[in-house]
Amino acid sequence: MISLHGLTKVFPGGVRALDGIDLTVADGEFFALLGPSGCGKTTLLRTIAGLETPTGGHIRFDGTDVTRLPPGDRDVAMVFQDYAIFPHMDVTANIAYPLRIKKVPRERRTAKAAEVAARLSLTELLRRRPAELSGGQQQRVALARAIACHPAAFLFDEPLSNLDARLRLEARTFLKRLQRELAVTTVFVTHDQAEALALADRIAVMSDGRMIQVATPAEIFHRPATTFVASFIGSTPMNLLPAHATAAGLRVAGATFPAHRDLTGDFTGDGDLTYGVRPEYLDLSTTERPDAIPGVVSVLENLGTHTLVTLESPGGIVQLVVQEGEEPELGTHAWAVPRRALLYRDGALLT
Ligand code: ATP
Repeated sequence: MISLHGLTKVFPGGVRALDGIDLTVADGEFFALLGPSGCGKTTLLRTIAGLETPTGGHIRFDGTDVTRLPPGDRDVAMVFQDYAIFPHMDVTANIAYPLRIKKVPRERRTAKAAEVAARLSLTELLRRRPAELSGGQQQRVALARAIACHPAAFLFDEPLSNLDARLRLEARTFLKRLQRELAVTTVFVTHDQAEALALADRIAVMSDGRMIQVATPAEIFHRPATTFVASFIGSTPMNLLPAHATAAGLRVAGATFPAHRDLTGDFTGDGDLTYGVRPEYLDLSTTERPDAIPGVVSVLENLGTHTLVTLESPGGIVQLVVQEGEEPELGTHAWAVPRRALLYRDGALLT
């Protein structure tokens, strides 16, 4: 179990990369840190690893304070984006390297390297050097090296980001299965929301050194706590439209939704609101209806089995997903009928 208490990191020069982080990662949990570039993900991971010293707060592993412990004494294995495997060593020597540092006898570490290599389908490659391996194979060597020393936790910093799209998907599935089998606490940094949703038991969405929301992938996807999280999650981002509460109901982009509609949040009362609806939760109507957002079809994008439709509505652009073969004509009028929507006031979800 990794627990962080008021963890703060201010770099010389004044950048507050971590701003009072409180978090507990459960034993065996696969935890993703997600957020835009510069939000503090890598700094947080490096601080957990002991590669950065926090300027405030505490880190505990299973209740023991490790804040001042050097990296080598923390029993964690870190895998970086660039793998950092040694070019002059073959695969066996790379995998066995942490065991060599621990002074494990040569025979035992070679046997251990072979055992871990088999698990990662690297047996045929044990004599090769990194330059003779593909990106995906190099990444597996880095993982194998992390696994070989049986750490109490894995810390991954975008380990899949140097792989091409197809390999990345394969590696993702592989990593998830491996983490399940090993049941080792894992903190995984990514800026790819799809990767975080697919892999993690829980996700923390970060911005400016803070955690904006910590929740399961389903909760983050279906009930993003803020409009920032809402716009960051989903392969096509959530539609966020200005809305206004009136006596007749909620006015959104030329539509009026009666108060009882399946909306999360009480929108009665004054003030401007933001109406959030995912493209997957909008149905297309080619006939006019008062409770649907009107628009003109301006773009059609082929997603394979689906098509992403862009409507120009009075409230701005609205995107929705239709089944293949159900696309409207470009330039025609169409209406977007929401099935499931959320309301935000001042950027925060109304509950
Ligand atoms: P990315 O996804 O681009 O890797 P990140 O979320 O991992 O970004 P960090 O690398 O943790 O972000 O950086 C957080 C902030 O701290 C940034 O503003 C960055 O410029 C700053 N920062 C990071 N390392 C240092 C350093 N050694 N000295 C000064 N500022 C730093």
